[in-house]
Amino acid sequence: MTTSNASLLQRSLAAVWHPCTQMKQHEALPLVPVKRGEGVWLEDFDGKRYLDGVSSWWVNLFGHNHPHIKQAIKAQLDQLEHVILAGFTHEPVVRLSEQLSLLTGLGHSFYASDGASATEIALKMSFHYWRNHGETAKTRFLSLQNGYHGETLGSLSVTDIALFKDTYAPLLREESIALPSPDWRRAEPGESAEQYALRCAGQAEAYIAQHHAGIAAVIVEPLVQCATGMAMYHPVYLQRLRALCDRYQVHLIADEIAVGFGRTGTMFAIEQAGIKPDFICLSKGITGGYLPLSVVQTTQDIYAAFYDDSVTRGFLHSHSYTGNALACSAALATLDIFAQHDVLNSNRRKAGYLNRRLAAWRDLPIRHLRNTGMIWAFDVTPSRPGFQQRFYQAALQRGLLLRPVGNTVYFMPPYIISEEEMDWMLEQARGALEESL
Ligand SMILES: *Cc1c(COP(=O)(O)O)cnc(C)c1O
Repeated sequence: MTTSNASLLQRSLAAVWHPCTQMKQHEALPLVPVKRGEGVWLEDFDGKRYLDGVSSWWVNLFGHNHPHIKQAIKAQLDQLEHVILAGFTHEPVVRLSEQLSLLTGLGHSFYASDGASATEIALKMSFHYWRNHGETAKTRFLSLQNGYHGETLGSLSVTDIALFKDTYAPLLREESIALPSPDWRRAEPGESAEQYALRCAGQAEAYIAQHHAGIAAVIVEPLVQCATGMAMYHPVYLQRLRALCDRYQVHLIADEIAVGFGRTGTMFAIEQAGIKPDFICLSKGITGGYLPLSVVQTTQDIYAAFYDDSVTRGFLHSHSYTGNALACSAALATLDIFAQHDVLNSNRRKAGYLNRRLAAWRDLPIRHLRNTGMIWAFDVTPSRPGFQQRFYQAALQRGLLLRPVGNTVYFMPPYIISEEEMDWMLEQARGALEESL
């Protein structure tokens, strides 16, 4: 039986439960079957191509079918695919942990396979650290309004996106509190992004000063709250938060799952604030988008609080595929690409190019055109409901994969996108926008 677009669609709807989807919508909206990928392009069984403008849900950095990453996985496959990481170790996981430590300045990498597990791990570690220090009252977590940290029950508790959270609210921890988001779109007229971030930091201080005795950690997405629709904020907020956490003995968890590995213009977004968190959570781009892997790194002080003769003072958490050797080899190959090519500077030039092109969009009815590193977004005020679906479909028809969040359209392409491809992406996006407003 040869596979065609039509046959695969039907079998997928009969057999696969797709994520983040009301499956009934697919009665009207066909799935897109993908046969292969190459660079920024995805191709279906009829040879129709789509530019992957969302980096396959923000995971892909250097394009599909990248020879170096592919080769690294193949080489590792001939050596060792996977081994239990409790009681055993292997070279890829050791090398990756060493290299990540050099990049982040944090130590001892704890691995899982997806982002939500990483944020759960950081929350549990923070709580357990305080407990090991006899601070048993520190059981709550602070997060930001409109923040996103994953959708398992613990990570959903610190997520603040109604669509994902409200239905499951009875299952979640009630003790987590969302502080005002420094998203600069919320600034008063005449108030700068920095002034607004400082005002939000003042509100955070008022809360933390009063409640710190019960708070284990603050978890934030540094610089860009992606899932809510690419809300961007001034780095001064992170500096103030770091100072508050130091003053009031609260951990700072940097959830760089979406923004890590160059997405905001620096290797990690926290570098732009010049701060060091107590925990960093990484995933998504870590393997260049090839295999599932996530990691939590922490400080020597936190690691030391678990190091003891007592088993229960240790961090008792595990996932079957922890430190998977194939995934680690993909991550090492991804770090090689950063080391061997001037990725961040090349991205800076590309971002400049796209920004100059977007300057010509001033005539369109769009608001809050914004950019941080390799992320662009703007908001629209559509004339009728259903913009998100309309735009998505109009763009797909033109061979462009973009997934608006509500009335926010964003671009988050793989770093290897060329100037010609950027031009093409903008041309199609503009056409889709004019059709769907
Ligand atoms: C995607 C994301 C997560 C969750 O990662 P999954 O791998 O989807 O579980 C957590 N935090 C942030 C900031 C993310 O963007």
